Amino acid sequence: MMHFEELDEDTRRWMLDEFDAEQNQTHHFEPTELNSSGLAVFPDLMRQAIERGSIASLAASLSDASYWKPTRTYYRQGKHITQRIDSIIAAQELAHSEFTTWYTRGVARKLMEEGMTRCQVYRADPAVPPKCECTSLEENTVSLDEIYNGHRAKYFPVANPEAFSIPSSPFCHHTIRRLKV
Ligand SMILES: [Zn+2]
Repeated sequence: MMHFEELDEDTRRWMLDEFDAEQNQTHHFEPTELNSSGLAVFPDLMRQAIERGSIASLAASLSDASYWKPTRTYYRQGKHITQRIDSIIAAQELAHSEFTTWYTRGVARKLMEEGMTRCQVYRADPAVPPKCECTSLEENTVSLDEIYNGHRAKYFPVANPEAFSIPSSPFCHHTIRRLKV
């Protein structure tokens, strides 16, 4: 389970502030595997999770099969592969990546508002073997500007796999913490 060290009222307020700012942009990120029903409820479900929920509560609220497209298609080794979407698994994956994305963005904003400029990268779920590229940054100090501006930088509005971003992939279990003084 992800351990978000500062998931308090103050952090949730910044997460929500940042989420609403993104939603208010005309062209904003929308999960591609949700259908129109799913996209219609997603902002409210995300808001509820940010205000008082968790990855688990968000995953539960998203697991309704009627929110999801029947299949996903991806490209591998020169072939298009079509795969059935399991709404339970897809909801868990989306909840993990979105909640971690908003926690990271919200904490970065909170620490910047406190006047800090640096933070520390940590693995928030020690039970998961690290596979993502930010594994080499564990316990390192990084700039809050880079974290804040790295929000969705690898995939939105355009694909940019070289960009610096934490979380670095949908399966990343890293986030940031305040520097201990
Ligand atoms: Zn990671």
